Amino acid sequence: ARKFFVGGNFKMNGTLSSIKEIVDNLNKSELDSNVEVVISPPSLYLLPTREHLRKEIEVAAQNVYDKPNGAFTGEISVSQLKDSNITWTILGHSERRTILGESDEVVSTKTKYATDNGLGVIWCCGESLEEREAGNTISVITKQLDSLKAQNPDWSKIVIAYEPIWAIGTGKVATTQQAQDVHKAIRDWLKGVSDKVSDETRVLYGGSVNESNCGELSKQPDIDGFLVGGASLKPAFVKIINCHQ
Ligand code: 13P
Repeated sequence: ARKFFVGGNFKMNGTLSSIKEIVDNLNKSELDSNVEVVISPPSLYLLPTREHLRKEIEVAAQNVYDKPNGAFTGEISVSQLKDSNITWTILGHSERRTILGESDEVVSTKTKYATDNGLGVIWCCGESLEEREAGNTISVITKQLDSLKAQNPDWSKIVIAYEPIWAIGTGKVATTQQAQDVHKAIRDWLKGVSDKVSDETRVLYGGSVNESNCGELSKQPDIDGFLVGGASLKPAFVKIINCHQ
């Protein structure tokens, strides 16, 4: 069975003291031990987070580069993350794709490099409202997945996050059926890699997940967890972690 996975993506939010509060709250909370929890603060706060956070919870960067080291101003390497006990990174978040202009190919290449070098990757995909309304949801996601497959990454290191762009930070969560339909399509697509990869890869939902809508979503057969933005900054994040029965 796939272990339920809940990620908290802090995006560009927080301060030393507010992130310490989040960490303290997670440290003292009772968390379902059947859930894998990973939090992702801004890069500046990765080290203090790792230092103070209970060991069962892992820490993720929000981005990583695909070269070992060198003249790449502003970037962080996979080995630097591993050196700091940061075992995961998010890649291909829609905000990086749209605001920072990362193409499918850039995201895929970085995912290949990171997984080959032993970093876990929360790999994000999703369609815009315009693409959904034009009936192109599955084709957009398939194109993103095809680009990843072309790089032949280590799938055992990848968790897929389906995040419809129109649901991110908008309070407009996908219906359980809308989410399950896309998750099922991703599961079917993964069969083209192998049955094992399709059976074992966690597919998370992200986009306006909160303590009230997580329960229903978590019951869907192909939803294996969440990537949570805004609500991961609040104490209610603990309820989302513990929502899966
Ligand atoms: P919200 O939960 O704030 O909608 O953000 C989702 C997200 O983008 C997580 O990566």
